[in-house]
Amino acid sequence: MNTDVEMRLQGLNVSPGISMGVLRVEARGCAAPQMHTITLDEAPREWARFEAALARTEEELNGLKARVKKISGDMEAAIFDAQILFLHDSMVMKSLRKEFDKRMQNIEAVYYAVVQNFMEAMRHVEDAYLRSRVTDMQDVLQRVLKNMVPAENAADRAAASGPYVLAAYDLTPSDTADLDTSVVLGVVTEVGSAVSHTAILSRSLGLPALVDIPNLMLEVVTGQYVILDGYSGMLILNPTEDTKRHYRSLQAEKAKAYQALVEMKDLPSETRDGHRIRLAANVQFVHEYPAVSRCGAEGVGLYRTEFFLLGDGRSLPDEEDQYRHYRALVEQCAPHEVIFRTLDAGGDKLPFEEMGPKEENPFLGWRGIRVSLSRPDIFKEQLRAILRASAHGKVGVMFPMVSGVTEVREVKALLDECRAELRAAGKAFDPAMRVGVMVEVPSAAMMADVLAQEVDFFSIGTNDLTQYTIAVDRVNYRVAQMFRPTHPGVIRLIHQTIRAGLPTAICGEMGADVALLPLLVGLGASEISVGTHVLPLIRFAIRHLNYGECRQMAQQALQASDARTIRALSKAVALRAYPNLFD
Ligand code: PEP
Ligand code: MG
Repeated sequence: MNTDVEMRLQGLNVSPGISMGVLRVEARGCAAPQMHTITLDEAPREWARFEAALARTEEELNGLKARVKKISGDMEAAIFDAQILFLHDSMVMKSLRKEFDKRMQNIEAVYYAVVQNFMEAMRHVEDAYLRSRVTDMQDVLQRVLKNMVPAENAADRAAASGPYVLAAYDLTPSDTADLDTSVVLGVVTEVGSAVSHTAILSRSLGLPALVDIPNLMLEVVTGQYVILDGYSGMLILNPTEDTKRHYRSLQAEKAKAYQALVEMKDLPSETRDGHRIRLAANVQFVHEYPAVSRCGAEGVGLYRTEFFLLGDGRSLPDEEDQYRHYRALVEQCAPHEVIFRTLDAGGDKLPFEEMGPKEENPFLGWRGIRVSLSRPDIFKEQLRAILRASAHGKVGVMFPMVSGVTEVREVKALLDECRAELRAAGKAFDPAMRVGVMVEVPSAAMMADVLAQEVDFFSIGTNDLTQYTIAVDRVNYRVAQMFRPTHPGVIRLIHQTIRAGLPTAICGEMGADVALLPLLVGLGASEISVGTHVLPLIRFAIRHLNYGECRQMAQQALQASDARTIRALSKAVALRAYPNLFD
């Protein structure tokens, strides 16, 4: 590690933009702290260090509570009360004191062991509510551990209070969702992939981000000045004055070019030869709602409801809460449609309070529609809330991780029950609300003709479709280079799905790749749904394409035998149509 000389680390750019500022190295998600023994003399200082960390943690939690209360209301903020209670839990404290006096080890190692024991016990209790508190304990544990690391110097303290670029080994989706964008300028991680939920969330938060930077944690220190180049994928440590100057002007230039694209928001997303594509937004958070109309999206093509439902690991909001929340978005997007994707728990998503023990293969386990169908009580609350929101605008609903027609029929039967219940209760809904299926499991794509008899539309989740088709874990950095949505196997499944004849959207990250847009348009996708930040670029790109040329190229691509060739075919069309988007 050298803290003076300019140094460049190459990573994978997963969210565009340039950030410049001091670095803060985050120990979140870290493993057990190093253990060492202490002497009797050291014990009082060690305990005082722990108490100071508790006080700092309480302060942080109160701050977070106030912030969340302002953004999302009392119910969401209450989660932090539970965490503050756990922070001072008398049983934990008693056990900690006892173990500390007995073991004579550094306090973080003892605290970690004690809390782990409590969490383990809690994972096995009958009561689902108590089980759900494990997530809170985990969060409190991480915060206390982080606060036990002393700020090393003035630079550390400056980085801890002012705006900063966050560096971490890895971030969970909930860590990312929790980032305070008023102080975090960008994110860099040692591991990660472009279609992990961390990457997707960074894009929706508008934070430049790089992942997969080998040895990042060995090279960086808190307080170092860095430039994060979210275009080339470069993290520059200790940049020279020349480099800073270069990036300041590049930042201004990019901002100007982007603003020019945003100003075209009212132009139709239509190819040069008049082929119309619905261009919609992918949304995760409440604070993104205003961005949907600001970027000129025709409504929402994918609303990932799990971030609202499971955010912060709290218990699920009830039907009434969900209805209010969904209705706000529907009214705001009217007359455009909002497509709600029902709860997609499991996989690498936020933990669901009832998920139980960690699974060996979570992506192949209890995830998506499987969770919802096994909990019809919870599922129906969400379906009724969505149906009721449909009385206030245009709404569609779709289901994640469907593998075949049986699940679809079960879901439709539950929807019918919900409609009957609402009718009986005199509550309004749109009887013509569109119902769709996310095509993200290969068997669903293969059965598209059968599924097409059951629903109104398809939305292809290329992130999972790629993962499941070519057996490449979307969040495993070791195989990140093998994650290729242009693999012929994936392209054939997309083609097969579209050929079934329903309106078909692309809502995975493939749709946000301007190099692959000609291919998706040429295959016949009727809608592209992407994050609000990238949407202006996609509109610009669509408006410069020629549908006829895209169709011809797509036919050629369907004959190609490898991912690289297919990408090259599409990119060649893109480069001719909008070379400036590749600068
Ligand atoms: C997908 O799988 O492509 C998708 C859009 O859903 P998610 O990324 O939320 O799994
Ligand atoms: Mg998916």
